[in-house]
Amino acid sequence: METVSGKIALVTGGGRGIGRSLALAFAARGNPVVVTGRTQSRLDQVAAEVDRLGGKALPLRCDVTRRPEVEALKNVIESKLGTVQILINNAGMAPAAAFLEMEDCLWEEVFKVNLTGTYYCCKVFLPAMIASGWGRVINIASTVAKVAYSHISAYVASKHAVLGLTRALAVEMGRTGVTVNAICPGYVETELTLNNAKMMAEKTGRSLEQILGLFKRTSPQNRLIDPKEVAELALMLASESASGITGQAINVDGGAVMV
Ligand code: NAP
Repeated sequence: METVSGKIALVTGGGRGIGRSLALAFAARGNPVVVTGRTQSRLDQVAAEVDRLGGKALPLRCDVTRRPEVEALKNVIESKLGTVQILINNAGMAPAAAFLEMEDCLWEEVFKVNLTGTYYCCKVFLPAMIASGWGRVINIASTVAKVAYSHISAYVASKHAVLGLTRALAVEMGRTGVTVNAICPGYVETELTLNNAKMMAEKTGRSLEQILGLFKRTSPQNRLIDPKEVAELALMLASESASGITGQAINVDGGAVMV
């Protein structure tokens, strides 16, 4: 797989979980990586890990729901490193709530982070990417961008919208040298999954192991996905040889969803 080392990658939500794995994987392949999120200490930890690998990382705080912060982020990156050519929209949240009990503010917050955050980053970082003639936008969606599960209606609807945006942008970017794709993980072994499992365990009176067992059994492989598996696919989509892959939504879920 031909890689594109040297090109600057930006990972939103890069301080933990899938974002952390993405940052480490791209840095290991020789891409300078900007890790961003709202918790500076987590970003600094990931940057230190990248440093130990011999890579280069810039940990910059940014709330993707605030457009001025995204614009300020772009200005700092351009002054310190250059043009972002690999944008990975990974920041996200997946709180569980029954539809009729869900507060409006929860619905709004989920859409702000998962969809509007992705929109702001695309809006702010695409112009320079297009001007450079080469770019990769990788949206970390979810299998719930294609199918639905109970008690996560805001998450399901927002990730369906992320997939719609991915496809629309892929069409619009067709002749620019920029590809736009989505990765759709199933249950990944991260804090997000563990916290949801803990909440389900409390609500149902079952043990954490039983709930994690339920999550695993949604996949024919009967296991959770390792965040590194998501990162490996992102590396492939960001490679030179993936220039013909755009507008796609690729599942990494052990075969749980086959659409
Ligand atoms: P996670 O461990 O909860 O990490 C989420 C990351 O997003 C954190 O680094 C968080 O950092 C950041 N974030 C949240 N709100 C933000 C905001 N407003 N601005 C900037 N950063 C923000 O979750 P994960 O499991 O790694 O998930 C990463 C992505 O994969 C999400 O989009 C999620 O929907 C998707 N996904 C996860 C799974 C799974 O099973 N875990 C499955 C399918 C898809 P701060 O809180 O410090 O800002």
